[in-house]
Amino acid sequence: MQTVLNPARPAGALVLFSGGQDSTACLAWALDRYDTVETVGFDYGQRHAIELTARVAVREAIVVAFPAWAARLGADHMIDIRAFGAIGETAMTSDQAIVLTERGLPSTFVPGRNLVFLTYAAALADRLSLDHLVGGMCETDFSGYPDCRRATLDALETALRLGMERDFRIDTPLMSLTKAQTWALAMSLGRESLIEITVRHSHTCYRGVRETTHDWGAGCGECPACDLRARGWREWVAQGRPGLS
Ligand code: ZN
Repeated sequence: MQTVLNPARPAGALVLFSGGQDSTACLAWALDRYDTVETVGFDYGQRHAIELTARVAVREAIVVAFPAWAARLGADHMIDIRAFGAIGETAMTSDQAIVLTERGLPSTFVPGRNLVFLTYAAALADRLSLDHLVGGMCETDFSGYPDCRRATLDALETALRLGMERDFRIDTPLMSLTKAQTWALAMSLGRESLIEITVRHSHTCYRGVRETTHDWGAGCGECPACDLRARGWREWVAQGRPGLS
């Protein structure tokens, strides 16, 4: 009798994808690793539709530059969670200036945002039969954000597994990386092509500036997001543009 092998189901991932530098690196990381990769974005009433436009541009550029990845890249999804964004009432969604709050968090912080993103993503991933949720949460540069910590995500992973009866994994490839190391990761995964795509198409600036360009990409150059991205870039360039060691 012929032995019928039961090949493991192809591994699939849903990437939380905002079109920024971090989630672009996460998308490449997932495409390098999983057989099927889909992306999800959240419209929570951001000031800037620019971020949503960047998502399309990054995906399209990756398809052109990386045929092997293009074959794995599936659908893009957008979830409207503006009702949640309205609760945040912060600089990200209103016209307030970006300042530090009494808790030491930037006023751009929407409380529990990543918990909500991941819960919506898990519900969608279940429908799509994707087991891995990939997010760019990072403890290194954002230690003030309690929902970016791995301990928080471990607890959520357990809750999602129990609550949805699926073997979800929350992958956070950037968790322990500095911003310079995120550039290095992109170099390792996609060499200069991915660096160029990230610089040209990914969007980070809180103020939504695209007209002003720098060697690290477009942005106002002054907001906390631009500052972080620019400093990471300069550090990585000073090191000689390495891959991740
Ligand atoms: Zn900026």
